[in-house]
Parts: sequence; C-alpha cells; structure tokens
Amino acid sequence: MKTAAGGAAAAYCRPEDEPKAYQAGGQPFVPDELLGPILARMRAKAAEGAARPLVLPAAPRCAPPEKPSPRERAAREGVFALRARLRRVAPSRRERGCGALVVEHVDTEPTIELRQEAGQVRAHWKGLMQCGHIWTCPACSRRLRTERGKRVEAAVNGLGKRWQMVTVTLRHHDAMALAVSLPALSKAWRRTRQGGKVQRIWSERVSASVRAVEVTHGRNGWHPHVHVLLRTTEWTDEEKDALLARWQDAITDELGKVGRPDALHAITWSEPFDGDDAKGRALYVAKLGLEISGAGKLGRKGSRSHWQVAEDAANGDERSRLLWHEFYTATKGKRALELDDRAQAAAEKFMQQDPKEGSGEPMGSIRVLRDDVRALRYEEKFTRRIFAEVLEAAETQGEAGVRWYVNFARARMKHDAERFAERQHDPWR
Ligand SMILES: [Zn+2]
Repeated sequence: MKTAAGGAAAAYCRPEDEPKAYQAGGQPFVPDELLGPILARMRAKAAEGAARPLVLPAAPRCAPPEKPSPRERAAREGVFALRARLRRVAPSRRERGCGALVVEHVDTEPTIELRQEAGQVRAHWKGLMQCGHIWTCPACSRRLRTERGKRVEAAVNGLGKRWQMVTVTLRHHDAMALAVSLPALSKAWRRTRQGGKVQRIWSERVSASVRAVEVTHGRNGWHPHVHVLLRTTEWTDEEKDALLARWQDAITDELGKVGRPDALHAITWSEPFDGDDAKGRALYVAKLGLEISGAGKLGRKGSRSHWQVAEDAANGDERSRLLWHEFYTATKGKRALELDDRAQAAAEKFMQQDPKEGSGEPMGSIRVLRDDVRALRYEEKFTRRIFAEVLEAAETQGEAGVRWYVNFARARMKHDAERFAERQHDPWR
C-alpha cells in the first residue's frame, strides 16, 4: 500500500478493506496507538460482565500512513481536551458549543477537510461552530495564535535587521481587578509612546513593531504585561531612562501610586537578535505567547499562565473558576496581539512571495452527518479529546478511521439510551 506521503487520497484504506463484522475470538488489526484509550475502556467494559455488551463496530484493517508529529498531535489533543473540560465552566454559550455544534442556517453537512501541509496530511473540521475567542478558548486560541505567529515571523523575516523585545509591566496586588489593570496598561503604554521626547526617539529608531498582551496570575493577583517586539536601532542609556520615566508616570496617572512599578521591574529589554536568524525569530515568536504547539506557555515560578487558571477551574477549584470568569470578562474584546501597519504590510508581502506559507493542498473531504456530530458530542463526556482523535483517524486512516469512531460513538449513545429505558421500566434498579 502506498503511504499518504505519496499524496494520493487513494492511499487511505477503502471501506471494502474493513472487516464486515467484529469476529468473536479473532483480533482485527487495530493500531493500538490510535484506538488505544477507547479499546482499553471497551475491554474493561466487556470484562465487567454484568453490563450489557457493547456492540463493537468493525475496525479498519489498514496500516496508518504518514502521521503528524507526536508533539503536534499531543498539542492538538491537549487543547481539544481542555476545551471539552472548560465547557462546564465557560461563561459564554458560543464557547460551550465551540467545535461541537453544527453551524445552523447552512445547507452543507459538516465535513472533515484533508489537506497536504508541509509534507503531511492535516485534517480540519468544517461546518462546526467556532467561537473565535483568542483569550479563553483553547482550540480557537491555538488556531488564531498559530496564524498570527506565522504572520509575525513573516514580518520579522521580511524586514530583517535588528529586533529587540521590550517587556513593560505594572505593580499589582491581589485586590486589583483585571478589568481595571488591563485597560490601564494599554492606555498608559499608548500614552508613553505619544508626545515628548519618547515619541521623537521612537520615530527615529523604531521602524516596525508587534505588541502582545499577556496575563498571568500569582500570589499578588493578576499580572498583565505587554511584550513589544521592535525593529529598532540601539537605544542609548539616556533614551532607555526617558522611556522608563515616562512609563512610570503614565501608569501612575492611570492607577495611582499603587500601580507604579520600581525602576528595576518596570521595563525589561531582551537581547537583540537578527531578523534573518531563524532561531531568534522562533524564540521571540514563542516569547510573544504565540508558540505553535500547546495552549500557552507555563507561568514563571509561583505564577500561573491563564491556561493553568483554566485547568484548575475545569478541575473544580472554585476560586479558579471565579478567576476564570473575571479573566473572561476583562479580556472580552481586547486585542491580544497587534502588528503595526509596517509590520503588517511586510508580513503580507513576504507571505505572498513564499508560497509554502499557504494553507496547503486540498486532498478531499470526508462527510460527517449531523447525527454523527451529535454522537461525538455525547462521546466527548467520556473521551474528552474525541474531536481531535477523529481528526487523527482521518489523517492516518482516512474515511474508514472516521467511520470507526463515529460508529463507536453511536454504539455507545444507543447502548446508554437503551439502558436508560430499561431502568425506567424496572422499579428495583
Ligand atoms: Zn472556540
């Protein structure tokens, strides 16, 4: 059999390759790393004996072709699982239904789209609702941040020359609401650059910039800060001091003395790097909180990234749940990342020149019925990463793999519904 690296959709196993039925006693070929968790649960269920036997769907017989890297797969599964667990605590309806509800008022059925991207087969859900929340939805955040991360990298690559990251913070304490400190931070930073000596230095030295806002939570409450990636010539010590003084005054105007950071912590200048250096670019794109894998970076010692707050909220920690709601409200509608006009133009120009930055070559699609999505949504209660596992099945096994998961989810839903009906009729249970 050809592998998917050959590029042909025919590389996937065909429905006729599937065994007609699960043969009792015989072991069908199932790649365990693909179906492992579900199989283990099914075996355990069968071993229970007392339970009504689950009808196993036929397993695909084909060996998996080229797979996405384990790291990337784990990252996708991680964000899908976190999204599933956050549904219980998400304050927004859109977020609770993200990636699990079919888009309404559209004639087309949901599908899984297969694309050849960077030599690998990638599957994506189409026709499912997406909330698009960059701050609070792990899956949408990953998608949007990956997209913007590419854009930032293209801007840095396209413009080249000397880049440097500046991190700007304020002083914070436990009683400071994020809904107060976050807008204050943005406003004060905008004012710092406008007017006076700093504006003059800025227009002389800085030729492009990217701004990212990050929020962590620690012993002293919410800690919002701004990372600004600058294409800049070197600042003298006096110029840096002028920036520092202006920032301290601006944030004091917004929050009072209590928000004024000391000179040591207010502004941090990172090591400069060359825009032509791929390693430096990748490092700083990651520092902007835009790394391609994972939901977000881990907080420094003693502080939690906002994703860790979300994890804890999903795990049932009441204080974290309240913090998560506060975070949701305070970040709603706020920009997480902004390229200035020059960086934006450079990114667009560079991406046009570089065709490999496109969204990949289409390889076909797999149709999924609305009721299939409903069954998967039901299965998500037991298998948090099910929507990611189905994508992986599509990438490695094609349609047959998707069918297997769908059949499994449908079998469980039917099984549970029947048991529920049985219980209704049996007063002794
Ligand atoms: Zn979402």
